Amino acid sequence: MRNYLKHYINGEWVDSTGSETEEVINPATEEVIGKISLGTKEDLDKAVKAARDAFPSFSQTTKEERVEMLENIAKEYENRKEDIIETITDELGSPLEISENIHFMMGYNHFSQAAESLKNFSFIEEHDGHTRMKESIGVSGLITPWNFPTNQTSTKIASAFAAGSPVVLKPAELTPFAAVILTEIFDKVGVPKGVFNLVNGSGSVIGDGISSHPDIDFVSFTGSGATGEKIMKNASETIKKVALELGGKSPLIVLEDANVEEAAKAAVGHIATNSGQVCSAATRTLIPASMKEEFEEAMKKSLSEFPVGDPRQGNHIGPLVSKKQWDTVQSYIEKGIEEGATMIAGGTGKPEGLDKGYYTKPTIFTDVDNQMVIAQEEIFGPVMTVLTYDTLEEAIETANETIYGLAGYVYGKDPAMLRKAASGIRAGRVKVNDTEADFSSPFGGFKQSGIGREWGDYGIEEYLEVKTILGYP
Ligand code: ADP
Repeated sequence: MRNYLKHYINGEWVDSTGSETEEVINPATEEVIGKISLGTKEDLDKAVKAARDAFPSFSQTTKEERVEMLENIAKEYENRKEDIIETITDELGSPLEISENIHFMMGYNHFSQAAESLKNFSFIEEHDGHTRMKESIGVSGLITPWNFPTNQTSTKIASAFAAGSPVVLKPAELTPFAAVILTEIFDKVGVPKGVFNLVNGSGSVIGDGISSHPDIDFVSFTGSGATGEKIMKNASETIKKVALELGGKSPLIVLEDANVEEAAKAAVGHIATNSGQVCSAATRTLIPASMKEEFEEAMKKSLSEFPVGDPRQGNHIGPLVSKKQWDTVQSYIEKGIEEGATMIAGGTGKPEGLDKGYYTKPTIFTDVDNQMVIAQEEIFGPVMTVLTYDTLEEAIETANETIYGLAGYVYGKDPAMLRKAASGIRAGRVKVNDTEADFSSPFGGFKQSGIGREWGDYGIEEYLEVKTILGYP
């Protein structure tokens, strides 16, 4: 049992001032695996004060000192590898190999990348007639979701530390234990008192408290659009800067000359990875009408290589994170059937033999019209919609017919067509074929997918203010 009832404030583990707790459930077994305290506004005030007190000295540390701190964090993070993998598998239900290759690695890459980006970062720029200085924005409040317990926390914390900004973190209640390990790492490597503070709690108390706190200068949030909207409204009362990384309904355009097997495998991979609980996942696959039958067969074949099951047994698709998420996904599958899309794989209910755990059947809908609810709303589960197109212009238009713009994907061979598709998609990140991830590249959304960018030097910029000095001697 993991009972983490303390918050981490001003360099110490301290009791909560309230008595409310919340159980954390393993979604694969539906068993309680631990508890956290639900913090109070008083806990939050203490954490904000600690961060505020740490600000004058932390913001004045040298770049070299912060590079060293980030490198030490990355090293200690590596030392905790097994613990991180086990914890994420337990609280999120992600298969061990996904916990290792994606969750563990992303956290590691963000800390290492922030150190690298910081080495080359200029905090002072001379221009004709004026000097520009980039200074820490102040105290940052970080609110993170449950689907990537080390990725979203680490990218925000690493960038804030690189910029010299002390933080208060509120992780998601469903998956709070990975953040406890991060806290232990910061404590071990000697992150100065007050620079990192962890307050566990609900969105309505601590999340809301962060976005409205008069002594927090910047809020970085990743999560749902509905919550992002509340945060932005709250933050407006104290003219707080906000960065939001919200939902997506990203398109994957398959070009006529694409290798069908490879593209189908990539499409299926999007709904399999993390059980489709990925904001940047491609969930609308656009294929040439002439490729329909062949592509559908290839998708079905590829899906059979992603069995659903116990995340500790090396299966490729684990459960969804919670009963609530399971219900949501079920209702979207029902909606797709009701809307008249053709279901070529999956369906409602649990996969055979998996009665315990929030397992759902990976589902593929074809003959989807882009105006259908299943093509427009973010489902956040293993559900793919497949649409057909006749011309590339039409594919790009359909790809952009969405309120979102987080990511886009293009598969094919002809460089001119690939370029046309990649530059036509209105989204913050477009990936061509199976290009490797690059942690120095900016990540964030167009349209209702968010505001701001994370990762690498763009991530650091978020935690800085620009000061102009005229006549700097
Ligand atoms: P989900 O519905 O999938 O849990 P949310 O966007 O609600 O997604 O959750 C993401 C994070 O936002 C979590 O840490 C959650 O506690 C927090 N949160 C929820 N409601 C609020 C709120 N009103 N203000 C600030 N944060 C919130």
